[in-house]
Amino acid sequence: MPLSDYIVTIGLEIHCQIKTQSKMFCSCKAGAGDEPNTNICPVCMGLPGALPVLNKYAIERTVLTGLMLGCHSPEISKWDRKSYFYPDMPKNYQTTQLDLPLCIGGGIPLYPWCYPSDIVKKGLPELRTAKLDHIHLEEDAGKLTHFSGYSLIDYNRAGTPLMEIVTAPDMHTPEEAYACLKSLQQIVIYGGVSDADMEKGQMRCDVNVSIRPKGQEELGERIEMKNINSTGAVRRALEYEIRRQCKDLDRGITQVQSTRRWDDERGESILMRTKENAHDYRYFTCPDLVPIHTASTVEAMRKIVPELPLEKQHRFVHEFGLSDYDANVLVSDVKLARYFEEAASDPKLGKKVANWVINTILGILNEKGMTPDECPVQPQAITGLITIIEDGTVSNNQAKEVFTLLWDQPELSPAEAAKKLGFEKADTSFLDAIVEEVVAANPEKVAEIVGGNDKLLNWLTGQVMKAAKGKANPKIVTEALRGKLGLS
Ligand code: ADP
Ligand code: MG
Ligand code: ZN
Repeated sequence: MPLSDYIVTIGLEIHCQIKTQSKMFCSCKAGAGDEPNTNICPVCMGLPGALPVLNKYAIERTVLTGLMLGCHSPEISKWDRKSYFYPDMPKNYQTTQLDLPLCIGGGIPLYPWCYPSDIVKKGLPELRTAKLDHIHLEEDAGKLTHFSGYSLIDYNRAGTPLMEIVTAPDMHTPEEAYACLKSLQQIVIYGGVSDADMEKGQMRCDVNVSIRPKGQEELGERIEMKNINSTGAVRRALEYEIRRQCKDLDRGITQVQSTRRWDDERGESILMRTKENAHDYRYFTCPDLVPIHTASTVEAMRKIVPELPLEKQHRFVHEFGLSDYDANVLVSDVKLARYFEEAASDPKLGKKVANWVINTILGILNEKGMTPDECPVQPQAITGLITIIEDGTVSNNQAKEVFTLLWDQPELSPAEAAKKLGFEKADTSFLDAIVEEVVAANPEKVAEIVGGNDKLLNWLTGQVMKAAKGKANPKIVTEALRGKLGLS
């Protein structure tokens, strides 16, 4: 059967490290970058008798994430132990949440601009939301690094607060899964919950996928691929796996629920094990941690839910008259959106500021690997730059030179930088005389221009430029001519 006769179903389990100072159940420092095994204590090493203490901030950020995604919280949320042995888990169990997680329901909006660029180029997909099952909070494991013949373990990461965001089986294409991850990334960054950098392992994704013939109600057996570490790899893994399952089913091979490893370099998935079930983990309620009453945290967090990318996108279109495309680019990066908004303090300048930010500044920042908040040219300078273009002090190309100078000498005002480069506002009194002469010398042409021939106005502008020996700004000259000839 062709692939189009099957229905593809995808569900994601997304692990997201919460940006906190300390770990989930102890006061050890959280975050990467220190010498291995220096940020550890009896609690995160699971030594006998050590007792955990909850990290309130991590609980709050999880609830905030839930509110950003439209979840609700059960009145009481509790902690469970998931028992298993693995060298990166010194306690031999992971403290997690099984049946009363902090957030339930809700959904991840699949922002149209978050689809892969080849899809976006063909036309923006419609906005839809992938349903969420729940979000729970747990602790991260240590980090194993394998060498030939031996492995090294760093427990600094053990106990780092980790949200697990579990979607319903509610996506149908690899591109939706890609957009889901990108959108979630943008949302948690907006909320200041996580930096969600997949390259740094701050966000990791387990991908579940099944296929079933059209007409069959019940979902097919799912295959899980764990710990995929980029959105591109998620898309590739799904494309491969869907094709593989389709070929199997065509040949009458039924799928068995199992875990496969995605090898991104070889571009194939390899069977690891048939799937363990929840009861294999011998979950039980954690005897050391009391359940949480969620109401007061939910109320406190509700007050700080930020404006999210989609709302900002709509506002940018309406308030600043931006195109959808421009607004999409700006809201994709909260720092870029902030830079834009500071530069566009006058909404009338919105479109021009957006042009500068997207067409000039973003390119330079990307090239230098810098973020918008690191841009040495302050947002206010962009307003100033547009002003000196508008009043004819500099042309668009000259403004780019001014920008380059401001990059190196941000202490200058745009006007000062323009002056330093020898760009000065044309002396209109000197122009007036030339305009007068050129108009007087070309009566027939002038009559035609007044009669509506705009092309001739360009020619006349050229005559003035020639007489001014190129020292005038063409925009100003045209304006002066229009004024002189009484054209609007
Ligand atoms: P577990 O917690 O044991 O991994 P869950 O039933 O909670 O299992 O599902 C985990 C993920 O798998 C969820 O994201 C869910 O949406 C997805 N999923 C479940 N069943 C299917 C299926 N038949 N096809 C595709 N995805 C599925
Ligand atoms: Mg799973
Ligand atoms: Zn510790």
